[in-house]
Amino acid sequence: MAARGLAALRDASLLRPGCLVAGRWIETGPARLPVVNPASGQVLCDLPRLGADAAREAVAAAAGAQKAWAARPAKERAGVLRRWYTLASEAADDLAMLATLECGKPLAEARAEVASGLASIEWFAEEGRRVTGDVLAPAVRRPQAGLVLKQPVGVVASITPWNFPFSMVTRKVAPALAAGCTVVLKPSEETPLTALALAELALRAGLPDGALSVLCGDAEGIGAAVLADERVRKISFTGSTRVGKMLMAGAADTVKRVSLELGGNAPVLVFEDADLEQAARGVVGSAFRNSGQTCICANRILVHESVHDAFAARVVELVSKIHLGDGTEAGVTQGPMITAAGVEKAERHVADARAGGATVAVGGARALPDSGGHFFEPTVLTGVTPDMMCFWEETFGPVCNLVPFSSETQALDLANATEYGLAAYAYTSNLARAWRVAEKLEYGIVGINEPGITSEVAPFGGWKQSGLGVEHSKYGLDEYLEKKYVCLGLG
Ligand code: ADP
Repeated sequence: MAARGLAALRDASLLRPGCLVAGRWIETGPARLPVVNPASGQVLCDLPRLGADAAREAVAAAAGAQKAWAARPAKERAGVLRRWYTLASEAADDLAMLATLECGKPLAEARAEVASGLASIEWFAEEGRRVTGDVLAPAVRRPQAGLVLKQPVGVVASITPWNFPFSMVTRKVAPALAAGCTVVLKPSEETPLTALALAELALRAGLPDGALSVLCGDAEGIGAAVLADERVRKISFTGSTRVGKMLMAGAADTVKRVSLELGGNAPVLVFEDADLEQAARGVVGSAFRNSGQTCICANRILVHESVHDAFAARVVELVSKIHLGDGTEAGVTQGPMITAAGVEKAERHVADARAGGATVAVGGARALPDSGGHFFEPTVLTGVTPDMMCFWEETFGPVCNLVPFSSETQALDLANATEYGLAAYAYTSNLARAWRVAEKLEYGIVGINEPGITSEVAPFGGWKQSGLGVEHSKYGLDEYLEKKYVCLGLG
């Protein structure tokens, strides 16, 4: 039988038993942070639990390294990123295994995540060479000429969540380094191992000491230390709206730049003229990805009443085929949830919907009780109404809610009736409707007849309380660059 789990790693040294602070690996310390496999409850690794002191040390090293890193020609920085990309590509299987072990998603999903994260590194290695300013010659007052320079913002603190342990790191660290910034990264305490392996590969690629520190443990203490530090000029955060608001408020004291990618509550509009098979596959693929634990997962499925029953039947059929289990096992298509709290929230949402009159068409309960993991059945609710918890709040679990609608206007009103605005989807075969709906959805990303909306080439970011700024694309690099106007007096 093929080796599974940690035994399957080809390069065992990618499992780092410590955090990287100011170019040094720290493995010892009185307080410990066990990293646990959510599919089994087994401890994968025991890290030191670091806090504010280590964060300050990391910031000092990042500040010390930043000017020299920024002064290197863009081509040289790009060369380091490209080597990082190559080394991480060669280690892709190991990195996917680490992501599956600490986050729970099936290996095939982890491989797709690694591929998308690698694409971010590659893109920003290329894009970092194309940072150019502007010349304002005839437009400014004479006798003057003007130049707009783009310069790195400086030291960046990045804070990432557990649901994409690889690609959340690369989409923040790669553009920062490409722009000439240095980074203090705090990955989620639940999933630090993939980030630490990426840090090891970055060092092997030639990244100078201090340019990237990766530490975790006391999230609040680390957060407070980077917020208070004048030398940190930007916070880039992906996670809950609650913590995002706190970081935004905390950044005000030293007026740091903030980029926030927060919660979502993605609607899918399935119109009567949609290809129902395509829509059903798209919805199921999106709603149950990573056990429903992504901020762009289809959460509220708004279906025209004339096709609702046929659509629901097909969705239930597809969901019934999902194979729940340990993500490292062949054939498993849905893994555990990350924590017991996640399972409890899914349970709460199902109970509330049921009490309000919704029907549990499939699933609805905890699963695999003997596994030691946090499993919840893939669930479809029909007859969901806007007053139910699962409509207002992102379930962030494997629960797909079907809500009937009767007109395009009503569907748009329901879709936009949320404080969130990250991703929305619509299925229709009518081009004019597709365009109309895309324009009216108050969301940062809209997928029309398409659930796969993430690309390193395209901007990713939310409207309303889903966030500030974008990641990826040419716009994503700008988030790490300050603009400076240089006015030349020629008189
Ligand atoms: P989730 O509920 O998805 O885990 P969180 O917002 O709690 O989302 O976590 C996202 C990231 O924010 C994680 O790395 C977590 O450790 C970090 N985090 C949580 N609380 C704080 C805090 N007070 N300061 C800084 N980072 C925090």
